[in-house]
Amino acid sequence: MKALVFGCTGQDGSLLSSSLLAQGYEVLGVSRSSNPNLEVHRRISILGKMEIRTADLCDFREILELITGFEPDEIYNLAAQSSVGLSFVQPLDTFNSIINGTINLLEVARFASYSGSIYFAGSSEIFGNTNAPAEATSPRNPRSPYAIAKDASYNAVQLYRQAYGLRCVTGILFNHESPYRSPNFVTRKIVDGAVRCSREKDYRLQLGNLTVSRDWGWAEEYIEAMQLIVRAPNLVDQVICTGRMETLEYFVFRVFQQLDLNWHEHVQLSDDLHRPSDIQKSVGNPKPMQQAHGWQAKHDVDGVIDRLIEATKSGNN
Ligand code: NDP
Repeated sequence: MKALVFGCTGQDGSLLSSSLLAQGYEVLGVSRSSNPNLEVHRRISILGKMEIRTADLCDFREILELITGFEPDEIYNLAAQSSVGLSFVQPLDTFNSIINGTINLLEVARFASYSGSIYFAGSSEIFGNTNAPAEATSPRNPRSPYAIAKDASYNAVQLYRQAYGLRCVTGILFNHESPYRSPNFVTRKIVDGAVRCSREKDYRLQLGNLTVSRDWGWAEEYIEAMQLIVRAPNLVDQVICTGRMETLEYFVFRVFQQLDLNWHEHVQLSDDLHRPSDIQKSVGNPKPMQQAHGWQAKHDVDGVIDRLIEATKSGNN
């Protein structure tokens, strides 16, 4: 079996490639860069085990050549400017990377009569505030350029499946973490900062709005869910989540508590770090994934925090 992975150098792309290689897949990864950052590949020991090509997901000819030349059974579209915060600063790059990249890929697949399966990495941000645990069919209210881009792409994937019969599907991912997450994400910032506080008495961690609530899971498990969704005989969009929601304040409290620290003594809150618009509550309903695929998250926020601290303390981050 062969898989083509866009965004193969990121957290999910690296873990997914590792999982596919372990199953005996031939994996072709794609990066925008001719000199990709392969730090995560090195850390998870897949460096040199797969080919990586340089291509622009928005370039029709490049993507056509990749698909017709490699003939993958599965395509994973994980490439994105993936930071919600940064999307407020760089909305055009965010829209372009997500919407144009996704539609270009779908259009190439349609043009080439591609008969394999395509997975799109959707985001829970499309729901905005969730009054009840969200499912794939729940009302949507995107509140950032990133969320708008993911929402439009989700619609496009549905359209290409329903109107053109492509085997394409969206896994709507709630937040998921690992030691391979980029350090500019708040969870990594909190864990790295707390460990630093435990070593440097005078260090103060700067954070923004701690009242927001999220549903946090463990990335390695979400990679398995993606594969279950894209390999199903009947493709159905699914939410990938734990079903447990906690505030960012709880996340901070528990990280510091696990290090025997009182967070109030080490954290400075700053209004400058608030986003122009933020989601207060975001939680998913794990039941549809459980019923359709027997998949259930094993680690919720507490397990995620314990593993992140362990990795940071041992220098594996
Ligand atoms: P990462 O940011 O770690 O990886 C995304 C990859 O996309 C990068 O490695 C990069 O590869 C490529 N990329 C970055 N910026 C751009 C850009 N402007 N244009 C095109 N490609 C770009 O993300 P994750 O692995 O965490 O997430 C994977 C996917 O899942 C993303 O689409 C993300 O939006 C989505 N998602 C993730 C969640 C999470 O909690 N992690 C939650 C919900 C959705 P390179 O530089 O090599 O081209």
